[in-house]
Amino acid sequence: MHETGLSEAIVAAAVRRAAGRRVTGLRVRIGGHPVDAAVVTQGIRVAAVGTVAADTAVDLVLEPMTVRCHECGRDGPITDHLAMVACPQCGGVDVDVAGDDDVVLESITVDTAELGAV
Ligand SMILES: [Zn+2]
Repeated sequence: MHETGLSEAIVAAAVRRAAGRRVTGLRVRIGGHPVDAAVVTQGIRVAAVGTVAADTAVDLVLEPMTVRCHECGRDGPITDHLAMVACPQCGGVDVDVAGDDDVVLESITVDTAELGAV
């Protein structure tokens, strides 16, 4: 996954949804491939510079895909890319990967206090 493009897409979606209001919080759900939360958070902060989301808090919800192994029966979330091709418990390659590989901007928080102060 390309974290920089991902972050820019999240910020762009948040800015569009905010419709000119100042964004104070973002809640993003990331399913599928394991990502480095710190990298994504940093990427969002960088992408948000100069936008209404420049001071936003970032709340990431990571939902990794799960892998079920046909050889030993292990069933659990994957924590790295290697687990998608081989079972982390027995090393078997007869595994099923399940889960949604998507990124969703779940919600944003906007600063509504400024509306009354105009
Ligand atoms: Zn296994």
